[in-house]
Amino acid sequence: MNPKFWTADVSALTKTQVKEKLWEELRLKADIGTEGIAISEQALNSLHEDESFTGQKLGGGRNRKLNRGKELPGCIYLPYGLKVTFTWNDTSPYVVEFINGGHSLTHKGKVLGAIQYAKKLPYEGQKSSDGVPLELIGHADYYDKHVIITYSNECCYIERDEDCLFCNINYDKDLYTEKFGPFWRTPKSVAETVKAAFENGVADHATLTGGVIAERRELEYYVDAGEEICNTLGVDKFNGTATVAAPTDFNNIRKLKEAGFRTTAMNLELWNKDFYKAVCPGKARGSGGWDNWVKALEYAVGVFGWGRVRSNFVAGIEPMPRTLEGFEYLSGKGVVCSMNVWAPNVGSAFEGHRSPEPAWYIELGAKLAELWKRNGFSFDQIHDATAGDYRLPSDIYRIENEIFDIYEAAGKVSA
Ligand code: SF4
Repeated sequence: MNPKFWTADVSALTKTQVKEKLWEELRLKADIGTEGIAISEQALNSLHEDESFTGQKLGGGRNRKLNRGKELPGCIYLPYGLKVTFTWNDTSPYVVEFINGGHSLTHKGKVLGAIQYAKKLPYEGQKSSDGVPLELIGHADYYDKHVIITYSNECCYIERDEDCLFCNINYDKDLYTEKFGPFWRTPKSVAETVKAAFENGVADHATLTGGVIAERRELEYYVDAGEEICNTLGVDKFNGTATVAAPTDFNNIRKLKEAGFRTTAMNLELWNKDFYKAVCPGKARGSGGWDNWVKALEYAVGVFGWGRVRSNFVAGIEPMPRTLEGFEYLSGKGVVCSMNVWAPNVGSAFEGHRSPEPAWYIELGAKLAELWKRNGFSFDQIHDATAGDYRLPSDIYRIENEIFDIYEAAGKVSA
């Protein structure tokens, strides 16, 4: 049975009322996404006294500033159960406080409700055969039934000063290796982590991702990792996504499928060609350019199938109509688009910038969820193609189609 992610009492609510509450909470979530979130010292201390606590394991991540203090939470679950990434901003009006022995979200001092955190996974502390704790290899959450593994902590685009302007992977590199290691996750340790997450029921979908390696050597790595995961699970294919930069030789896309991955992802990030060139110069120059990227996505649909290929967008850098053009075009070709609330994070070239208003994100997310529906993507396909079910379009799709467990609790007194 899934853990219960909400704290609100819905026993006196109808499903329609729960839907309204979830929409309200979605607006709150979008606002937290753009404002970030702080936590009081008392709340953080109490978290660290709790043996079930598991944190970010990151230096920079999506945070506004570098955290040199105690490990912060990776996410919170809001009162009606929506998951919010913990984007730390110590000046945010949203603060988690320790109140009456529990943790509550507050806004400018007003209590909004009790929240929960992700709990330690059953296999935390277990080590891979090369001696690395599995939780440092992949991050998993029952909420999404998803494990994400970043195979390395660098991207070679930095060598020409062409890394994406919103990305801080290379900034994070020293922080990771300084504190958390390992720098490189071997195919064997990746496979062991996927196995632990799948066998313990924490995840049923794995995403493998990471920076681009010189001479595109990561493409071979993906094949090795896919084969190793299949061997370790004793299967010939598995529910995994290979997240790659578009190859210029499309045979590499076929090889990913043959290595066992169910889905692939090539994240275009921005649709307008000029924005793309300016914001993602390495992708634009090193992966055959925008046209090649789009062709690769269409080719991948031919290999993996309709709804089995994803492209993520960092929304809020280019104007909404441009991003929507991309969503419309790619969705009509069978590509599942996804989008992040842009968090201008520490160590990225955009550090110190601000993202658009929350309503901007809700509007874009709703339009994308509508496109998913119109193009016949089932929630299972969306789950399998995207890196976690916690972004705004997933929430909207689930709210509108009543795919949250909280709907089952509506009008019932809990045992
Ligand atoms: S391709 Fe861009 S987003 Fe991906 S790791 Fe490199 S710099 Fe970051």
